[in-house]
Amino acid sequence: MLGHVDRLRGELVDLHAQLVRYGLVVWTGGNVSARVPGADLFLIKPSGVLYEDLTPASMVLCTLDGEAVDPSQSPSSDTGSHAYVYRHMPEVAGQVHTHSTYACAWAARGEEIPCVLTAMADEFGGPIPLGPFALIGGEDIGRGVVETLTGHRSKAVIMQNHGTFTIGKDARSAVKAAVMCEDVARSVHMARALGECVPIPQDAIDSLYDRYQNVYGQRPAPTA
Ligand SMILES: [Zn+2]
Repeated sequence: MLGHVDRLRGELVDLHAQLVRYGLVVWTGGNVSARVPGADLFLIKPSGVLYEDLTPASMVLCTLDGEAVDPSQSPSSDTGSHAYVYRHMPEVAGQVHTHSTYACAWAARGEEIPCVLTAMADEFGGPIPLGPFALIGGEDIGRGVVETLTGHRSKAVIMQNHGTFTIGKDARSAVKAAVMCEDVARSVHMARALGECVPIPQDAIDSLYDRYQNVYGQRPAPTA
């Protein structure tokens, strides 16, 4: 278990740097967390620390009740919500939260992002849904994430008036969903500024999603 914790601490530093690289965060906003395999624990960004100051040791190990294992460390203010998601979605092992600009434009309008690009069908299998308005600090946001994404193909949700939360089978795939969410939020926002968007038929969405999830990419090397 300790080996997993050490590895994940380093991975989380690298993945937080990806949020900066892709322009998804400013100042200390946003966070990535990762579930520790085989333990009722997860690691998350410390509260109020600038991205350039993050170190493996600064990542806060928390219980699934959202409490820091080392009480001298103060985890992200979204920790209670991450904990709620880990408790209620056992398949989730990574989460990301950002206030990325274009996704927030959809959040401010309280609108889901319609599935009008093949890249959306590939990654999200349909629209990126809108989650409820929820106050920060407790686990209300997590409850909204679970209610919205349970049974939904999308790994991203736009929380009304707030920003995006993404989930994944590990922290890296949750970061990928956050990057892709902002990318399509920007494209569809621009399209909408000039007119109506053309929907993709459901059977085509299904076919694109299946191909991307099951066929696209490099095949694993055969094992002899
Ligand atoms: Zn936030």
